[in-house]
Formats: sequence, structure tokens, C-alpha cells
Amino acid sequence: MLLRWMIKLFMRHVGLAFDKDSPWQPEKQNQSESDTALEEQPGIFCAHCQSWLASHTESIEMSGAHRHHFTNPAGLSFEIALYRQAACQQYGGKSIEHTWFPGYHWQVAICAQCHQHLGWLFQRAHSPAFYGLITDRIVEK
Ligand SMILES: [Zn+2]
Repeated sequence: MLLRWMIKLFMRHVGLAFDKDSPWQPEKQNQSESDTALEEQPGIFCAHCQSWLASHTESIEMSGAHRHHFTNPAGLSFEIALYRQAACQQYGGKSIEHTWFPGYHWQVAICAQCHQHLGWLFQRAHSPAFYGLITDRIVEK
């Protein structure tokens, strides 16, 4: 009798007997629900690692267009789409050489997660900065 009571007490102590009331259960459920919500959130994603980059509301236009087509001095052509904000990191220094938007310095923008080159950050004094992301390196959902 005493042994049975001791086992019961031990099991209660280590939490084996009360799985249903375990404080871990609801926390786990909430965690997976919020993960799912983030995955299902529409927006712009990195085509390489699928990381979320920006919501559709960050989409902007310059000279009346959201998408622009440019060729750099090396002869490489890019189609870029413009966003006010994006989950990118800047890489290297700023330059105004051969800039695609008059007066704007450009700086290489890479994915904050996988470091893939995704486009450029454009900055000009007294104007809001924006990102130009290469359309075949991002996915819209
Ligand atoms: Zn990425």
C-alpha cells in the first residue's frame, strides 16, 4: 500500500500521471498555430529560401510603375519590383554610378536569411528609401 502511494507520488512529481493537464500542451498548440499563420500570410518571399520579405502593402511606384526594366553597364538585364521595406540586409558600399533612379545612391541588398543577392536599396537625401527587388529572385503569394 505504501509502495503504491510512493509510486503515485513520484509519478505526479515528474508529471507522468497528468499529461492531459500538462502546462506544455496549450503552449505547443499556440506555437504551431502562429507558425502556420505566418506561413500562410500573403506577401513577397525569397525564391531561394522562401523567407518572408515584405507584405503587398509595401509595394510602391516610381515614375508611375511598380516594375522597371534596366540593363547595367556589364550588359546584364534585370526586371525589378519596388517596395518601401523588405527583410533584406545591405551589402557593400553605396554608389551613385550608373544609378537607375536619378539622384538615388544604390547599395546591394541581400536576403537576410540565405544572403542571396535579391536587388538594391535606393537612397536619396530628403526622400524615402526603397528597395528594387529582382522579380525572378522573389515569389509573390
Ligand atoms: Zn533567402
